[in-house]
Amino acid sequence: MKYTTTRSDKKTYSLREAAFEGLAPDGGLFMPAEIPHADMREVGERAASSFAEMAEYLAGLFFADDLPREELREVTREAFDFPVPMRRLDKNVTSDTCYTLELFHGPTAAFKDFGAGFMGRMLARLRPEGERLTILTATSGDTGSAVAHGFHGVEGIDVVVLYPDGKISDLQESQMTTLGGNIHALRVAGTFDDCQRMVKELFSDVAFRAAHRVTSANSINLLRWIPQSFYYFWGVLQWQAATGGTTPEIVVPSGNYGNLSAGMLARRMGLPVRRFVAASNANDVVPEWLRTGDYRPRPSVLTVANAMDVGAPSNYERMMALCGSDVDAVRREVSGFASSDEEIRRAIRELYDRYGYISDPHSAAGYAATVGCGVDGFWLSTASAAKFGEVIEPVLGLAPEIPERLARLLGRPKVSTPVAPDSELLKEFVAEL
Ligand SMILES: *Cc1c(COP(=O)(O)O)cnc(C)c1O
Repeated sequence: MKYTTTRSDKKTYSLREAAFEGLAPDGGLFMPAEIPHADMREVGERAASSFAEMAEYLAGLFFADDLPREELREVTREAFDFPVPMRRLDKNVTSDTCYTLELFHGPTAAFKDFGAGFMGRMLARLRPEGERLTILTATSGDTGSAVAHGFHGVEGIDVVVLYPDGKISDLQESQMTTLGGNIHALRVAGTFDDCQRMVKELFSDVAFRAAHRVTSANSINLLRWIPQSFYYFWGVLQWQAATGGTTPEIVVPSGNYGNLSAGMLARRMGLPVRRFVAASNANDVVPEWLRTGDYRPRPSVLTVANAMDVGAPSNYERMMALCGSDVDAVRREVSGFASSDEEIRRAIRELYDRYGYISDPHSAAGYAATVGCGVDGFWLSTASAAKFGEVIEPVLGLAPEIPERLARLLGRPKVSTPVAPDSELLKEFVAEL
């Protein structure tokens, strides 16, 4: 399969080019030149066996020319080795029922595990024979941990994660600093913006890049984006089996819109979805755009659902490209719903009172939109409540349980290298790996 970009479909790129570049040379995002069609009967038969089996079929539609079947099988087996349950919530008093697809049972307890785990294992197999590769990623918390776990133990690849010292949670820090091996954590005496600047400066140093094979694991990377379409197939099948319905509406808690635009990709592959609802927090650029037709990116504001604090969502370009740059076509396919912090807290409270269900703030924004838009379908739960105890405790007066696989990390010694916010120091570190 060939790849084009959101800004031009004239020049095409190979998978290797798209995967290792991350961002396209014209500044756009990579897209498949043609969207493959999925045979829903085949998807259903595979899904009856396992998520990984289904994912292997879907991945093959995109990547069969680039990797042998056997390797795609290994990639999907290893990357998707955790449960993906459709949770049915029943109201205590009436017969009201709702559904959420829990995407947070992977190694770092957030949906980003789907993309990062797949990308790590794909890059390991696409990298030129015998060459070592260094992945750089700056993180404010969640992305770094998903990438660290997705690439941990992957042969031929080193990962350098930069995070702002003292500005991430204990659990997030543990997720990046207790793995060891090929995962190297740098705690930067500065802010997240400093971390990002250091990585950018390294990437723009042409001489350095010529001497060292470095790439990023940015969330816009095609190899993180495409596998996020897989769980939409799974979710629709589970929902159909549970309700007898055919074509659900799907609510997606959104920030950078990688998740939602991957759902739009799945729909073009043939998945029956009536519409998507973009559930945002106070950073309501997209809901506003869908309502007014005006796209006004702006600086983000801090909210209790901080992984969705994005003011200029990169995947706006993919949403537009998938709809032939026709705003009205986007508006027919996607509705928007924004929740304030107070509304998110109220949703957390309501989920607990009505269903005895403890939800993280991002997923709770999905629930708020489900109720607010009268959705007949399900919402995606994007993170485990365990990661957001500091938001949930004051609302519910109780602490969410920490799953065993996360609790184990908390007990381990953290190893990271302190570094001043200077990209020359980052280059030295990478050169010495
Ligand atoms: C990243 C993230 C989101 C937002 O996903 P996008 O693909 O950026 O829209 C939502 N919830 C959680 C928990 C996340 O980590």
